[in-house]
Amino acid sequence: MKIALRFSQLYAPTLKEDPAEAEIPSHKLLLRAGMIRKVAAGIYVFLPLAWRSIRKIEQIVREEMNAIGSQEMQMPVVQPAELWLESGRWDLYGPELARLKDRQGRDFCLGPTHEEIITALVRNELRSYRELPVSLYQIHTKFRDEMRPRFGLLRGREFIMKDAYSFHSTEESLQEHYDDQAGAYGRICDRLGLEWRPVVAESGQIGGKVTTEFMALADNGEAELVYCDCGWAANVEAAETVVSRHQSATAPRDLEMVHTPNVRTIAELAGFLGIAEHDTVKTMAGKTPDGALVFFCVPGDRDLNPIKADWAAPGVELLAEEDFESMNLPKGSLGPVSPPEGTLVIADRSLESEVSWGIGANENDYHMLGAQPGRDFVVSAWADLVTAQPGDACPRCGGALQGARGIEVSQVFQLGTKYSEAMGASFTDEDGTEKPFIMGCYGVGVTRSLAAVIEQHNDDSGIVWPISVAPLEVTVIPLSVGDDEVFHTAERIWQELADVGVEVILDDRDERAGVKFADNDLIGFPFQVVVGKKGLAEGAVEFKDRRSGERDLVSLESAAKTILAAICTERSRFAARQNA
Ligand code: ATP
Ligand code: MG
Repeated sequence: MKIALRFSQLYAPTLKEDPAEAEIPSHKLLLRAGMIRKVAAGIYVFLPLAWRSIRKIEQIVREEMNAIGSQEMQMPVVQPAELWLESGRWDLYGPELARLKDRQGRDFCLGPTHEEIITALVRNELRSYRELPVSLYQIHTKFRDEMRPRFGLLRGREFIMKDAYSFHSTEESLQEHYDDQAGAYGRICDRLGLEWRPVVAESGQIGGKVTTEFMALADNGEAELVYCDCGWAANVEAAETVVSRHQSATAPRDLEMVHTPNVRTIAELAGFLGIAEHDTVKTMAGKTPDGALVFFCVPGDRDLNPIKADWAAPGVELLAEEDFESMNLPKGSLGPVSPPEGTLVIADRSLESEVSWGIGANENDYHMLGAQPGRDFVVSAWADLVTAQPGDACPRCGGALQGARGIEVSQVFQLGTKYSEAMGASFTDEDGTEKPFIMGCYGVGVTRSLAAVIEQHNDDSGIVWPISVAPLEVTVIPLSVGDDEVFHTAERIWQELADVGVEVILDDRDERAGVKFADNDLIGFPFQVVVGKKGLAEGAVEFKDRRSGERDLVSLESAAKTILAAICTERSRFAARQNA
């Protein structure tokens, strides 16, 4: 569809200075380029340029969903509490779920995600295995009352998501569609011009949830990743950890009680005992829902990963300060030897070795040297308990892991029968039995992706869009609008480009060249056509590539054709893969 836009009428109030509220490039640039404005914490207006980019991202997502046979639909934002009570999430979701009442006092919420609505829908409509699989998606607004909305569109409260849900009669069918979705997600990232990695998330979780996150690599990303040259990558939250163990310098010895007054930190303890930090053991105490005490033991130089602690002892909560007092536990000197009666000792599997450890003695101001599992203390269960870090061994190939940061732009998830069982959504299988649907869900953060693109594509002058997401492809800049020949030439090129379907804007403002260049660079249109008196004298206009900064003179007669050819080449780099 033809676009004929004049800069003088564009609603894009640009800012010269970085706004104080913004910390990272994407947030600063979205504000400075006049693309978004804040209404409340994590709630934004998308101005015309941002909206154009968002629509393009949506279209890419839509094409890739349609290409794998998922069908677009639309569900309501406002959802009745009954469905959330059925799934059990009304109580589990916590304050992130925005709740409201209607005039009759009935409970509702603003949808943070739509498993409940869609499961309730299909349980009344899909009856037979013959109708499966079915995959449905929507692109619309979600609300999550995030504890810390920040970084502009990266972590908003109101944001746009594509969410898809699939229903299957067999695990194989789910796996097939899950792989299709993952393939589509990779292509979406490619078409958005993102540098990305698929990462393992929550691998090894009890119940064997299968899920992959798609991470746009970015120093400002909130997610911490580890990856290996072999291609394996994981979110440290969930990465299976293989702590590289070294041969300890500490030879087996008798257990020895050591008075350790004023020793507070692991570093102080190691120094005091004269052993390495990695030869000490850190013990953290928690309580299971049924009240059992749990001691988690990890190497002194590593951190207990709360997600893994929960996998090892579901529902466990680490003790608060007052618990230590009421239970009379020496917080700074906990250890696995002679813990209180009935304590479950769960130790990181890297501790399962001949090493003799420096541990807490369960007595204030005392530690022990030479403790050995089996000989001196009983471990109820060995588990993977620590957060992965660079230098650990790759669980796939054993190579050394490296670290990076990323922005989670999307995630695919095998849900299994969690929602269908809870909500009684079943179908009749081939053998006549009733079975719960096997489900998958798949989410792309549309507005977060926009921010991720900018995070990866910017320079000192502003945004440097990949053409696939750019709000407009070309800007035509007459240097002096008062000069008839200059202005009319610019206007003509603008018209010619618009006529052949190029998304083009004419910077018809009566401003100094410096102001125009600054604004056009800031907004970051991929190509600029600069029309000036000097060039025209030679029968040429200047054609500038925003990314490389390269400028070419192109002759007036062939200007529109040359520019169109360049744009087509650029577009095709991000186009949908044929026969994908
Ligand atoms: P996060 O861990 O970052 O809070 P999530 O794992 O809870 O995200 P999902 O439920 O997997 O998010 O939602 C699917 C996608 O929606 C995410 O991959 C992300 O791109 C997007 N998204 C989630 N929360 C937000 C948010 N607060 N602001 C913007 N986009 C979001
Ligand atoms: Mg997620």
